[in-house]
Parts: sequence; structure tokens; C-alpha cells
Amino acid sequence: MEVESANTQIYWDRLIMAVEIWKGFSFEAAHQLKNVEEGHKCRRLHGHSFRVRIYVTGDLDPDKGWVMDFAEIERVFQPILHDSLDHRLLNDIPGLEDNPTSENVSIWIWRQLKPILPALSAVEVRETCTSGCTYRGK
Ligand SMILES: [Zn+2]
Repeated sequence: MEVESANTQIYWDRLIMAVEIWKGFSFEAAHQLKNVEEGHKCRRLHGHSFRVRIYVTGDLDPDKGWVMDFAEIERVFQPILHDSLDHRLLNDIPGLEDNPTSENVSIWIWRQLKPILPALSAVEVRETCTSGCTYRGK
């Protein structure tokens, strides 16, 4: 009975460790992908309504029953979104000048956020309703 109880506790501990939450954002921006072949539509200057999800993984706070206040994710990411990404030409942003694909935008966001949001576990960037990517660090 005691062994079963201990195993049950380990089971629940692992479940609690596995919780991942996300907060969604959006921004409008233009980009031009100069590395694709001539005639490809992405080579032309064009815009997207980008959608971003910031994922955080961690333990559940035993009292609050959450990993983190969603407002905390917004507090750290909103300034980056507002000051650097929204209504910008992504090719103008240092670090994205050469090839601002959604993949590279997700890596760029990861590099901005990880130092100030250590529990960051993934960055998802969608440039259309049906196309996007998820970066989970290295
Ligand atoms: Zn595009």
C-alpha cells in the first residue's frame, strides 16, 4: 500500500512538472525575403498580421494552481512587441536584416525574452492562419 502511494505521488509530481502555458499576441509588420528565388511571391515587399504565442513551462504553484500569472508574460513581452516589432519593416530590425522569415523572427523573440523570462519554453510565430513555426531553443 505504501509503495503504491509513493508511486502515485511520483505520478502526480511528474504531471505537475509537465505544465506548459501560453499567452497569445499579435502584431502587424512587413518583410521581404531576398533569399528566395526570383519570381517567388515572398521576394516582394509584403505584410502579415503575425500571431505569436509565448510558452512557459514550470511547476504549478500549489496555492494558486498556476504556473505563472499570464499578466507577467504580457508585462515582459509587450514592450518588445510594441517597441521593436509592431508596424515595422522586419528587415530594418538588427538581427533580422538579412532574412526575416517567421523562423528567424521566432528565434529573435526567443533571444530577447529568454534572459528576462527564464521559464520560456517555446515561441510560436504564425504569419497566416495556416502557416507558422515553433522554436524551442537549443
Ligand atoms: Zn511573408
